[in-house]
Amino acid sequence: MLDFENLHPDTLAVRAGTLRTEFGEHSDAMHLTSSFVVGSAEEASLKFTGQMPGYIYSRFTNPTVSAFEQRLAAMEGAERCVATASGMSAILSLCMGLLKAGDHIVSSNSLFGATIQLFNAYLGKFGVTVTYVSPTDVDAWAQAVTPATKLFFLETPSNPLTEVADVAAIAAVAHSHNALLVVDNCFCSPALQQPLKLGADIVVHSATKYIDGQGRVLGGAVVGSHAVLEPIYLFLRTAGPTLSPFNAWVLLKGLETLGIRMKAHCEKAMELATWLEAQPQVAKVYYPGLKSHPQYDLAQRQQSGGGGVVSFDLVGGKAAAWALIDKVELMSRTANLGDTRTTITHPATTSHGRLTPEARAAAGIGDGLVRISVGLEHVGDLIADLQQGL
Ligand SMILES: *Cc1c(COP(=O)(O)O)cnc(C)c1O
Repeated sequence: MLDFENLHPDTLAVRAGTLRTEFGEHSDAMHLTSSFVVGSAEEASLKFTGQMPGYIYSRFTNPTVSAFEQRLAAMEGAERCVATASGMSAILSLCMGLLKAGDHIVSSNSLFGATIQLFNAYLGKFGVTVTYVSPTDVDAWAQAVTPATKLFFLETPSNPLTEVADVAAIAAVAHSHNALLVVDNCFCSPALQQPLKLGADIVVHSATKYIDGQGRVLGGAVVGSHAVLEPIYLFLRTAGPTLSPFNAWVLLKGLETLGIRMKAHCEKAMELATWLEAQPQVAKVYYPGLKSHPQYDLAQRQQSGGGGVVSFDLVGGKAAAWALIDKVELMSRTANLGDTRTTITHPATTSHGRLTPEARAAAGIGDGLVRISVGLEHVGDLIADLQQGL
């Protein structure tokens, strides 16, 4: 018998969770159905009460969705995964499943904009409070803990400045206060970083990014132990922000090529970052694979590659950043990331445009900052595109 636990993530990416029906499909079957038929009244009763395993209704789960859950769990080295309709519904479901009024979160101050909005505008309405700290200052996490702290939440590397948080050190702080550490692993994906193995308790994903990797569907996932995930699953099956079987099937295909895509994204991003560092119009480059990155050593230990996102400050400030973005001909002017197509964006006036100038400055988002999510085009063509724009 094959021991799946000892297989490499690249192998799990194409083999784990493979689902075959009586027809013996070599690829994964797609099960587009909202509900499932049972053979008897007794079987229905046993399945609804959880005394018999089996599929009931696709809000609860679906065979294609389960296949995606099993494959992603295997790649993250986790017992269990629950798939969701988007990355944001993964974060919402984990909060709804694990928190109650009066609870407190210690969170990185460098988060995806909608996550901050969810924490402040919606969790706040239900009496959950959040303290924001720097992802790179481990002592600040310890100091922010209160008796009500239930969760620590971070992204690493962060967006758009690619700050790298020390997952093992922050997990140790969380555990010494009986809190759980949640890591949003969207930027690295399990191909480059497995936060559960570093001590995190829960991983969340926007599968919309590198897991699909081809800009086709929205999806998300929460990954962790059976015990931690059970209340999150119960929220999901009750409230319904479930992954559709069609999107699960697309994401199963995405996982199969994740390892080789991430390797290519990293190589191209490294070449582009190295080139950018040598340009006189560029004041500073933010990329965890560069020796000049403040957490270079930590990134080397924690990630098996620098990832696909490179940010840089232009000497000429906002005018220079907008001019470059307007002049590129190959790169797509869009805020999405993790696609085969390279994207370019100006964080100060888009993803971080709603912040006050002071809050933006505190977050280190300068007016000359440009973020590139390096796709799979030839890097020579990407460099030429930036060169004519600079
Ligand atoms: C995009 C993104 C999300 C949200 O994911 P959706 O699939 O768009 O809902 C969460 N975290 C990070 C880091 C992201 O980049």
